[in-house]
Amino acid sequence: MTAKIIPFNPPKRLERKCSFCQKDESKVKLLWESESTGKCVCNECIVKCKTLIDEDTETKPT
Ligand SMILES: [Zn+2]
Repeated sequence: MTAKIIPFNPPKRLERKCSFCQKDESKVKLLWESESTGKCVCNECIVKCKTLIDEDTETKPT
């Protein structure tokens, strides 16, 4: 009886990357995935968006 050697084959994980700057998961601190579209946005792009929102809010009269 010969022993069957089963090669270790880890399931290929889908590489996620930011839909905005195209940086992959390993290059950013945080990747936030949309549950509905499956698209991702990284922490850097979120910061950029926040800056834009803040600037926009500042220019508007209260
Ligand atoms: Zn990004």
